[in-house]
Amino acid sequence: MVKICCIGAGYVGGPTMAVIALKCPDIQVVVVDINVPRITAWNSDQLPIYEPGLDDVVKQCRGKNLFFSNDVEKHVCEADIVFVSVNTPTKTRGLGAGKAADLTYWESAARMIADVSKSDKIVVEKSTVPVKTAEAIEKILTHNSKGINFQILSNPEFLAEGTAIDDLFKPDRVLIGGRETPGGQKAIQALKAVYAHWVPEANIITTNLWSAELSKLAANAFLAQRISSVNAMSALCEATGANVTEVSYAVGKDTRIGPKFLNASVGFGGSCFQKDILNLVYICECNGLPEVAEYWKQVIKINDYQKSRFVNRVVASMFNTVSNKKIAILGFAFKKDTGDTRETPAIDVCKGLLGDKACVSIYDPQVTEDQIQRDLTLNKFDWDHPLHLQPMSPTAKKQVTCVWDAYEATKDAHAVCILTEWDEFKTLDYKRIYDNMQKPAFIFDGRNVVDIEKLREIGFIVYSIGKPLDA
Ligand code: NAD
Repeated sequence: MVKICCIGAGYVGGPTMAVIALKCPDIQVVVVDINVPRITAWNSDQLPIYEPGLDDVVKQCRGKNLFFSNDVEKHVCEADIVFVSVNTPTKTRGLGAGKAADLTYWESAARMIADVSKSDKIVVEKSTVPVKTAEAIEKILTHNSKGINFQILSNPEFLAEGTAIDDLFKPDRVLIGGRETPGGQKAIQALKAVYAHWVPEANIITTNLWSAELSKLAANAFLAQRISSVNAMSALCEATGANVTEVSYAVGKDTRIGPKFLNASVGFGGSCFQKDILNLVYICECNGLPEVAEYWKQVIKINDYQKSRFVNRVVASMFNTVSNKKIAILGFAFKKDTGDTRETPAIDVCKGLLGDKACVSIYDPQVTEDQIQRDLTLNKFDWDHPLHLQPMSPTAKKQVTCVWDAYEATKDAHAVCILTEWDEFKTLDYKRIYDNMQKPAFIFDGRNVVDIEKLREIGFIVYSIGKPLDA
C-alpha cells in the first residue's frame, strides 16, 4: 500500500488529503500538524474549517485510510510520498519584509524530513512558494540526506475556499512539475498515478519545476488582476452613471474575455491573492524587472483604493460623520461559504469606520467573535496603505459588538454595510430591518447582493458598488 503523509492540516492540507483518501482507497493518507487543537478538531465532529461537503468526505474515510495526527516525525518517516502544505505567509521583517514569502515553516519541514527519513521519498510542494524554491529545498534535503534519494515535485493547489470539495473532485487541471532527469520523471509518474484515480489524463499537466511553481503565482495574479480591473471600472461607473453589472455583462460576452470573475465588490481578500502578488513583485524586483513589478503592484493598490473608497463613501453619505453612529456589518468572512477571515476587506472597512469613531455591530454566519476581535486588534504590516496602520485602541474595542443574527445587528443602526455575499443576505426581511433602524436608513452594499429598487421603495438610501447613485 502506498503511504502518503501531508505536513500541514490547514485549509489546503485537510480537504486535499481527505479527497485523495476518498478517491484512492488503496492509499493510506495521514495528515500531520504541530498544532494540537487543530488535529483534535480534525478527529472530532467539529472540523477546524468550514467547507461545504467536507464533513461528508471526512466521515467516509476517517479511520479507514485517512488519519490525522500530531506525530509528525513517525508518519513522515513511514511515507513514500510527503506533501508539504505548510503556511507561507508574507515576511514581516528583515530582507524582503512586506513582500517576500516567509519560508521558515517550509525550511523547518524540509530539515525534519531529511532528519527522520530512512527510505527514499518523493517530496511534494503543495504550498504556494516562490519560483526556484524547489532548488533550495533540494539543497537542504540532499546535504542532510545520509544517502537517501529525495525527488522534489511541485504540485500547487488551485482550490478556492468555499468550493474546495467541488474543485478537488473536478479540478480544471492538476499541475505536476519535476526535474527532467529519469528520477524526476519517475516521481512525476508516481504522483500522476495518484490523481489518475479520478482526474482524466488530459487534465493532468506535467511541466518542469519552475513552470509549475510560477504558474501558481501567475494564476492568482491573473485572478486578482481581473477583480481589480472590474473594481477600477466600478469607480468610473459611479462617476459617469454607467452600471458596472451591465458593463461586466457586455464585456464578459466577448469569448476572449469570458463572464467569470467579473463581479465588482469592496475588494478581494483571503490569505493568497495579496501575499502571492507581493511575492511576485519581490521576485520581479530580485530578477531586475522593476517595470513588471510595478505593473503587479497596481493590482494591490487598486484593491486598497477600493476598500478606502468604500469607507469614504459611507462616511461622506452619512453627512461626513459616523461618530457614535451604529453601523451594522453583515458578513466578515472574505467570501461566502467559508469562515476564513484572513485579509478580508471587512477588516479594513471596520478599522476605517472605527477610526472615524463609529460603533460597529458585526454578524457573520460562520465567523466567531474571537476571530473578529483578533482580526481587528492586529496591527498588520503594510507598505503604503494608511488604513492598515490603525491598530484597534482599547476605546475602539468598546465600539465593536458581535452578534449572531442580522436583525440584532441592524436594530437601531444608522446604516448597514454588506461585506460578504452570503446567500441569506439576499432574502432578509428588509422591511423589518428598515422599521427597526434610525432614519434616514442607509444600505452600503459592497457585494452587489441586494435588489436596489426594492430597497429604495422601502425607504432606504442605497449605495451599491459601481451602480448609479441615489438621486
Ligand atoms: P494554514 O495556515 O491553514 O495551514 C498550514 C498548517 O501547517 C498549519 O496548521 C500549521 O500548524 C502547519 N505547519 C506549519 N509548519 C509545520 C511543521 N513544521 N510541521 C507540521 N505542521 C506545520 O494554511 P493553508 O491555507 O492551508 O495554506 C497552505 C499553503 O497552501 C500556503 O502556501 C497557501 O498559500 C497555499 N494555498 C492556500 C489556498 C487557500 O485557499 N487557503 C489555496 C491554494 C494554495
